[in-house]
Amino acid sequence: MSFEALGLHASILKAIAEAGYTQPTPVQQEAVPAAILGRDLLVSSQTGSGKTAAFMLPSLHKFASAEAAPAGAKTANQERQSAKARGERPRFAAATPKMLVLTPTRELALQVTTATDKYGAFMRRVKAVSILGGMPYPKQMQLLARNPEILVATPGRLIDHMESGKINFSQLEVLVLDEADRMLDMGFIDDIEKIIAATPDTRQTMLFSATLDGVVGNMARRITRDPMVIQIASTTTKHENIQQRVHFVDDLSHKNRMLDHLLRDTTIDQAVVFTATKRDADTLADRLTIAGFTAAALHGDMHQGARNRTLNALRRGQVQVLVATDVAARGIDVPTITHVFNYDLPKFPEDYVHRIGRTGRAGRNGLAISLVNHAENMNVKRIERFTKQLIPVDVIEGLEPKKSAAAPRTSRKPAGWKPGTNRNGNGKGSGGAKPGQRTFSKPSGPHKDGSARRSFGNS
Ligand code: AMP
Repeated sequence: MSFEALGLHASILKAIAEAGYTQPTPVQQEAVPAAILGRDLLVSSQTGSGKTAAFMLPSLHKFASAEAAPAGAKTANQERQSAKARGERPRFAAATPKMLVLTPTRELALQVTTATDKYGAFMRRVKAVSILGGMPYPKQMQLLARNPEILVATPGRLIDHMESGKINFSQLEVLVLDEADRMLDMGFIDDIEKIIAATPDTRQTMLFSATLDGVVGNMARRITRDPMVIQIASTTTKHENIQQRVHFVDDLSHKNRMLDHLLRDTTIDQAVVFTATKRDADTLADRLTIAGFTAAALHGDMHQGARNRTLNALRRGQVQVLVATDVAARGIDVPTITHVFNYDLPKFPEDYVHRIGRTGRAGRNGLAISLVNHAENMNVKRIERFTKQLIPVDVIEGLEPKKSAAAPRTSRKPAGWKPGTNRNGNGKGSGGAKPGQRTFSKPSGPHKDGSARRSFGNS
């Protein structure tokens, strides 16, 4: 299927061609035509599936197709001029956006805004701005004064502006909740309810989430009307281009030696190392820097400016190893990240899925390695149950754990597989496991560490 077949406006097709996209991803194929028809959507799709374009392209299409300037399109500056002409003291006119995208994190909001600028590059009147915690208020007032058509916001800061009368949602046509499950996990439920209550019932609502079960599902059904439910990838087929491995470690010193060894792998282009706490992220980044890596920390205690600088350095390739916490790293989309390391396992299996999704972007291969204490084996099993995939255990000669894993497993990378190569290989190497295929290969004989294959479900 082509983008032309989706019926998108010519200016958007031009931007898509310029972005180098040749055909819509599965989520785009399903979501775009339905959204163009004005349907509400409940979408569960994997990170990196092209979900931003899935909601942004049909929305931009709607705005590009609208002929006359909509009500409320008067800019705050025009409003001030009119007030002056009437001899009145100019007041701040509330922004009246037509579209609102709510995201859990500042990083994701900035990415959505950048993507919107890209997809709307050939449209005349569409402006998108980010309203984020951590950004100075005067700067945000300036942005709101331009009366942007599209707001991309994190819930907390948006509420501040709503309460001080800077934003009025009476003209809102489209509401998107991006990574809704995550927003609920982060405790934004009351803020989200408040924001939704301030929007017109006539709005179109699109909700994107890793899962549509439980609390998210309940909320999703409450805030949508006759939604089309799109389920692109279940947890079983997620991340098929990302190889996963577990290395068991005896203690912290063993873990550090292991990480040091693994980071010297020459197939690493860039890597993200996840730690459980912000303090550990700082400490480990310092330790890796001393060990000779170009490493930097990224976590929620850093000012927005510092976070942006670090992310830009990562995108430019000036940082090779990013040491991050879950929230800070969520949504990072840098195709040259070839490896993800779980220095600490995440608390929730959902976070594991989001973490490993930082690699294997844009159709490339990735490798996700978890360094696991024997006592944490239960957590590995929880992740395996959640993803319905076995994570093979690997052992490095000279760095073997003293204890062997309780139920040892083994694996090998498929021949020719290399992180960072294209999934199609192009002659450079084949992809990882295919959908429905186990993520480990059958050992052809006893493994050097004496481990054996364990069947999924034995745990
Ligand atoms: P997302 O799931 O929105 O975070 O998108 C993941 C990545 O896929 C981003 O780098 C997008 O630029 C890219 N992308 C989105 N749609 C397409 C497409 N149809 N073809 C190729 N790349 C795409």
